[in-house]
This record gives sequence, structure tokens and C-alpha cells, in this order.
Amino acid sequence: MTNITKYLLNIALDVPLDRLFSYYCDQKLALGTRVLVSFGRKTIAGFVWDNEVTDISINPQKIKAILEVFPEVLAPDTYELINFTAKYYHYPLGQVVFGAIPKEWRQAQNIKELRQSKPKPHHEDMAVILNDEQQNVVNKVTENLDKYYPSILFGVTGSGKTEVYLSLIEKVINQDKQVLVLVPEINLTPQLLERFLGRFPSVGIHVLTSHVTSRERLRGYLGATDGSIKIIIGTRLSVFTPFKSLGLIIVDEEHDHSFKQQESLRYHARDLAIYRASKHSIPIILGSATPSLETLYNYKLEKYKLFKLSNRAVTGSILPDIRLIDLNIYKTNDGLTDIAIDEIAKRLEKKELSLVFINRRGYAPSITCYQCGYVFTCSNCSTNLVYHSNTRELKCHHCGLSCSTPKVCTACHSQHLQALGQGTQKIEEVLAKKFVDAKIYRIDQDVLNSKSAWSELYTKIKAGEIDIIVGTQILVKGHDFHNLTLVVGLNIDSSLYSYDFRASELLFTQLTQVSGRAGRGGKKGLVLLQTNYPKHELYQYLLKHDFSGFINYTMKDRRLLKLPPYTYYAMLRASGGQLSAVLEFLNTVWDGASNIKNKNVLISSPVPAIMQRLKNRERAQMLISSQDRTELHKFISNLMVIVSLIKKPASDISYQIDIDPFEM
Ligand SMILES: [Zn+2]
Ligand SMILES: [Zn+2]
Repeated sequence: MTNITKYLLNIALDVPLDRLFSYYCDQKLALGTRVLVSFGRKTIAGFVWDNEVTDISINPQKIKAILEVFPEVLAPDTYELINFTAKYYHYPLGQVVFGAIPKEWRQAQNIKELRQSKPKPHHEDMAVILNDEQQNVVNKVTENLDKYYPSILFGVTGSGKTEVYLSLIEKVINQDKQVLVLVPEINLTPQLLERFLGRFPSVGIHVLTSHVTSRERLRGYLGATDGSIKIIIGTRLSVFTPFKSLGLIIVDEEHDHSFKQQESLRYHARDLAIYRASKHSIPIILGSATPSLETLYNYKLEKYKLFKLSNRAVTGSILPDIRLIDLNIYKTNDGLTDIAIDEIAKRLEKKELSLVFINRRGYAPSITCYQCGYVFTCSNCSTNLVYHSNTRELKCHHCGLSCSTPKVCTACHSQHLQALGQGTQKIEEVLAKKFVDAKIYRIDQDVLNSKSAWSELYTKIKAGEIDIIVGTQILVKGHDFHNLTLVVGLNIDSSLYSYDFRASELLFTQLTQVSGRAGRGGKKGLVLLQTNYPKHELYQYLLKHDFSGFINYTMKDRRLLKLPPYTYYAMLRASGGQLSAVLEFLNTVWDGASNIKNKNVLISSPVPAIMQRLKNRERAQMLISSQDRTELHKFISNLMVIVSLIKKPASDISYQIDIDPFEM
């Protein structure tokens, strides 16, 4: 046996094990270097994670050599961010690395040269003159460009947050630094992009959303690394983009739940962005008309600054009137009250646009048997199948299962089947019958599958070819609809008494945002909300446009009940083919947890998930909480070691820890 003196390197690989793997090389490689190694019978890519020069004797029988060294190296700040992410979310480091990099870097081969794409020419847009409130934010942040300066930009809908962003970006770019703008996927409208491109026509801007190709993503990644791209606008994954000289981060609509990934690595892009800004010592702006409780709590703790934009930026434009329609008094016909119908009719006469908001796509949320009460449910998930009239199908909105509409009841074979409740398609149909000449446009996930839907909508609105828009929550954010003066909200009560403690916050946010669509063009807007609970506090605050009042009320509640943000949560989730086995597994974990008991950490006993069956998997969970974040993480680190050693009662059981969970 010959002993050779080599460099020992620990490599991060894309495997679900929370450890690194040792290989040797005859040269010292920088941290983050992309390499090729053999693993089992495969040849795969990996990244050098630990390169402590250990000039030791290596037994080549036991430790394999690195097969190839590729030219790519992770930027040091990305390397550091990945380390933090893996530690904070208790997720296998190798999988964090491979989730954060472009697809090409994951493959076990050399990367083909990228050809330069042509930047398209754009019309230059003049900067608008800022009002005093906007100018104040720009001044304060500009004074603090060289330090960590987290601030909330709390601006009512239509108050011109984007103008503030653009002015700040200009200052940062003039210092030859770069900007990261994080947006929720559905917020990246053609309108918003046009404003960025128009304002900075000669600066490298790159968009990173789930719609861009992997080559485009790689181009953005490399352009940000070498500094040729100055502005990255992207969805949550963009938070991992390496920058040559990052000068500012903006998180638009920071309250949006899409910043939290709900599967595999369950990170929150806003929270990682905060971490990144602090590491880079740069300002971060969290913009929203309805900031999240977590964010406002940090303001209370004096960790964040708060800037308010209380005026609508368009002169003469004021917040709309909000009226509640009490469904205990006014009856609905196919989901709509006469009051709502009358107001829509008035808008049609005046040639103004109406928006009907119903957060349910499809035609009817359930199909039931009139004879025996049987409800058609999904065989893979614990949920009803939704009837879609355009395709005459029943569909599951969770797993995608679809089948043609049955003619008879599965239970009693009766032919008396009925569609109950209303979805967007049904409302569209009802309105089309009431207003025969009106031009109605429906927008929901089903329509948005065609890429041109948004641009088609805007073109038609501009040309005056739409009278009524019917849509889901897709419509509530970021969109400016010219000439929109009426918003009607249907079926809004369902989240009032939800098991999920965040549901009312989300409802208030959605209703505030959707109300904010009305009356932006200088005409007074009206918002009608049909509800069975007009006295509910949430609606009372909404009527007064009193977001702060609602927040104080909700904060008090959360503090009393020891809910986030006053307590830190983690959820151990498990799933498998049989619920009993899943629960047995979690109960064993629960027993094991008693050995590492910590008086600062509370562990609830395992329970089935609210949506117990999803995509053919039975699900259960165990909540772990503490008022001390450090203690919670210490406990979870120990717990995850215990969990990894437990023998599973069934081989198909999988588990995952979700830090700061959203899904309850
Ligand atoms: Zn039946
Ligand atoms: Zn399903």
C-alpha cells in the first residue's frame, strides 16, 4: 500500500444527508470550487466546502480523488449565506447549495459558453418629482447607504412606493453598486418591469422568475457576479444571487406569503434578505401597504426604522369608500346581492370599470348529491373536487387530479347532482346573464396559464374593451387598472374563524390590497363587501382604513395567546402512506425528545395535519415552540440527531423540520 501526500477536501454533495464527504486533490482548492467526484456508482458535481490544508497521508484505498476541477467558484458571500441557511433551517448543507445555484452548475459536466444576448432598447422614462414624504425616505436612506439600515416603507396603496425605490436605486447605481429587488411572483407585472426598464434604459437589468429559462438564469447569476448587471429583479430564489458589489436590497410587498418556500428547503426569502443586508452592511427596504406582524414587531423592538407614505401619489386621488353589505338582511342570488348588481349597473352606464373579487377559481367549489348528500372528494387529498364548467371536469386544486363530471352519485346512483357555491366561472356566467352587453374578463390561475393573459388584459382595459373583471387574489396586488371605480368582494368570511392564526391577517391584507385598486385614476372609488359578520372587528378596522388599529388589536391577541411573533415556532412534519405509522413515528420522536428536555422549549403532542391527506400522503405534525430563539435552535439541532436515529415504522415515511412555519 502506498501513501501519498495530498490535500484533503470536504465536499458538499446533492444528497439528503447532513454531512460533507472527503476527497483528495493534489492542489489546494478555494472554498466553493465546483468539482467532479465519484459517489457510489455515479459521477456527480460537488462544491469544496472545507479546505483545511491537512498535509497528511491519505490512503487512496479509502479516500477517492477529485476527478476534475471546474472553473466555477461560489462567491464568498453566497458561500456564507448558504452556511447560514443550512444552519438556520436545519437542512442538509449540500442540498441548500444545489438549490441555490443555477441548473448548469448542478450538472456533472463542463458548462457551455454563454452567448451574449442583445439588450433591447427601451423608452426612457423621466423621473417624477417626489412629494415630501417620498423625498424624506429617499434622503434618510441615502444618508445611510454605507451601513445596515433596515426600514419599513409603509405606504397606503397608490402612495408611490415604486417611485421611492427607483430614486434610491438611482443613488446606489451612481455609486457603481448593485441592487437586489425581491418581488412576489404575481407582482412582477409588465407594468412594473416597464417602469424599471424605462427609468434605467442603459443599465444592466435582469429578471429572475420561475418563467425564465435556465440559460437566462445562469446569465443573470454570472452578470451579477461580475458586476455587469446592476439590478436583479426576482422572486424568492434570487436572494441567493451573488453580487460583486451589492449596495441595496428592496423587498416589495414584504408581507407576501410567497416569499416563504412551502416545500423542501422551507426558507423565507425576506428573512434571508435581512440577514444578507446585515452581513453586507447595506440598507434594506421592506415595502408594503400592509406590513406583516413580524416586521412591525421588529419596529416595536426598535430594530427597524419605519417610514409612512400616507398620501396617494396621484393628486386628487383618495382612498375609496368601503361599505359592508349585511347578508343577514340582503339576500344573494347566485352569490350577488341586488346592491352589488345595482352598483355594477351604474358603472356600466358611466363607462367605468368594476372588479368582482372572489377567492375561488372554477365554477362551483363542490358537487353534491341532492338525494343522499354525498360530496365528490379527491381520492388523493382530503378536499372537495371543484367543478370547472369550461372543460366540464371535476378538478382537485391541490394535486391536479381531474375527471369528467359524473352523471350519477357514486353512493346512491341518483342523477340529482347539484353544484353548490360559486367560483369565478360561475360569477362570470351570472354577470354575463345579467348584463348581456357588458364585456367581462375573468382572470384566475386557469386563465393565467396562457402567458399573454396579463398583456391582453391591459391592452383591452386601455382600449376600453372591458367593463367588468372577475378574479381571484391574483388580482389584488400591484396592478393599476385605469378607470376602476368599483370593487365587489364576495365570499370573504371564510378566513374569519380559521384554525390558522394568520388567516385574519391575510384576509385584512387581501381586502386592503383589493380595495386599493379602486379609484386610482382621480375618480372616487367604492368598495362593497358582502359579509355575514358586519360587526366583526376586522371589518370595523377595514371600514376606517385603520391598518394600525387592526395591527394593535391583533398583536395584543398574539401576545396573550403566546403566538408568533411573540413566540418562535418550528414544526416537525411527517408523511407516509398510513396515518397510524406516521403518528407512531412522531410519537417515538416525542418520547425521544423528553430525554433532551429543555424548560424553555414546549413540545406539543403529534396530531394529524389539518389537511390530513395530500397527494396521496397521510400527514401529521408536531409543534415545537419557545420564546427564546437560540434555545429553540439548540433544541432542534439535538432533536434532529435523535430523529435521524429512530427506526421508522414504515419505509415510506419522510419527515422535515419547518422553521418559522406558515402552514399550520
Ligand atoms: Zn347520492
Ligand atoms: Zn387531490
